[in-house]
Amino acid sequence: MLRAAEISSARLFFEKRYDIINSVMKNYILSIDQGTTSSRAVIFDKDAHVRAIAQQEFKQIYPKAGWVEHSAQDIMGSVMAVVAEAVVRADITAEDIAAIGITNQRETTLVWDKKTGKPVCNAIVWQCRRTAKYCEKLKAVHGEFIYAKTGLIPDAYFSATKLKWILDNIDGARARAEKGELLFGTVDTFIMWHLTKGAVFATDYTNAARTMLFNIHNLKWDEELLNLFKIPARMLPKVQASGSEFGFTDKSVFGSPVKICSAVGDQQAALFGHLCTNEGDLKNTYGTGCFLLMNTGDKPVKSENGLVTTLGASLSDRPPYVLEGSVFVGGAVVQWLRDGLKIIENADDSETLAESVDDNGGIYIVPAFTGLGAPFWDGEARGTITGITRGTTKGHIVRAALESIAYQVSDLAEAMKRDAGIEINRLAVDGGASKNNFLLQFQADILNCQTVRPQTVETTALGAAFLAGLTAGIWKDLGEIRATVRTGKIFTPDMSEERRRTLLQGWAKSLRQTQTR
Ligand code: ADP
Repeated sequence: MLRAAEISSARLFFEKRYDIINSVMKNYILSIDQGTTSSRAVIFDKDAHVRAIAQQEFKQIYPKAGWVEHSAQDIMGSVMAVVAEAVVRADITAEDIAAIGITNQRETTLVWDKKTGKPVCNAIVWQCRRTAKYCEKLKAVHGEFIYAKTGLIPDAYFSATKLKWILDNIDGARARAEKGELLFGTVDTFIMWHLTKGAVFATDYTNAARTMLFNIHNLKWDEELLNLFKIPARMLPKVQASGSEFGFTDKSVFGSPVKICSAVGDQQAALFGHLCTNEGDLKNTYGTGCFLLMNTGDKPVKSENGLVTTLGASLSDRPPYVLEGSVFVGGAVVQWLRDGLKIIENADDSETLAESVDDNGGIYIVPAFTGLGAPFWDGEARGTITGITRGTTKGHIVRAALESIAYQVSDLAEAMKRDAGIEINRLAVDGGASKNNFLLQFQADILNCQTVRPQTVETTALGAAFLAGLTAGIWKDLGEIRATVRTGKIFTPDMSEERRRTLLQGWAKSLRQTQTR
């Protein structure tokens, strides 16, 4: 017979074990990263390590020149498939997941039936230029007004004119929207609505800020903008902090309900994933193009250089302001070396070739394939290679191509520094081309600041996971996360001031030869 003391210690033991099991069980975070060409699901553990990952590409639909669409079914189908695959790979069940975080391609626009969930047409993707002409007029007439409210320079990228296009062009859409039968959402909203079987109709500040319908100063959907674009307010989702409780997935979806604890646009997710949560923190994503974002704290900075002002991720209803700029041709210049010039076999070769020569041999490439973006804004400009001599080799060309990525990022960063009046002392990096050590060392040298590449390259998914984990209490605060995360590689400036000046002068001269005005 067990004595009372033994019973109580046995109970204690089991209760403890149950607690341990329970906390172990709920120690995973599922990040859903719904991107432009693929959907990914990443399962992170409490140490922010990737436990499992699954990815699925889906179809890009090009109905006309310059138009880009996605099937809404493909978006949801690929999300469900990658989640299932990642959960199986991680050898866990839905019950082991403490929280879901969602990060998404921004601006892409969906409209669906409130009762059935059926979309009225394909999703109009951020890259789609169908409303470009309208946006030119809009910019000329209402540019200042829109910028003052939204921080955005009117462009077809943003959701507002895409949504207007749907209401104007899809049979019966406007009438149905006015009757309250249709809902609008960016991809985060659409995914949440489906995962919760219509119970959650919400978005976050970072996604709302890219619609061009949201006032980034009073943090509300803007009535004057809704009137301008003739958008019924009842179509719009509720807006919450990026890291906050959105609701539970429907039981039928994953077998048991899981809490959705973050939604955040991809670039802002990466910024948070780098823990760039203080004023002046800066990150660059080196993908096909580059996205440079600077946290400017509680100050919305007005740019004199054509950069946009937007909102960053946070756990509170006071999201930070962010300055954002992009380089049109980033890693794409390496694709051009591979597929256009055919002077490298794969992107990784570019690093060895660039290092095979002592310097650029006087060569500069300005990859203005589709014009120059911020801070130069010259749509007519086309690319140039300058400084070619009889001694120019393949190595010089490859090196100049990689250097061109760094110069463009540096020009953007300098513009941000001027706009914000904030010194830059550290650049956090991610994206496909950030694995190139030569590029990152040159970036550190030319910007004269530390360039830091994290160990986990899944920075976007990680940002959504951090926000979700903090909301769910997996981590108690940012300090705990900082203590967990290990830095990958730090590139420290190692170039003389004189050499930097000479190189920057060479780049500036080459730029002048490229510009049309
Ligand atoms: P995206 O998300 O825009 O599709 P990724 O982050 O996947 O882009 O990065 C892909 C880009 O990175 C391509 O343009 C490719 O040329 C470039 N890239 C990949 N590996 C390297 C490398 N080792 N050096 C330089 N560029 C690279």
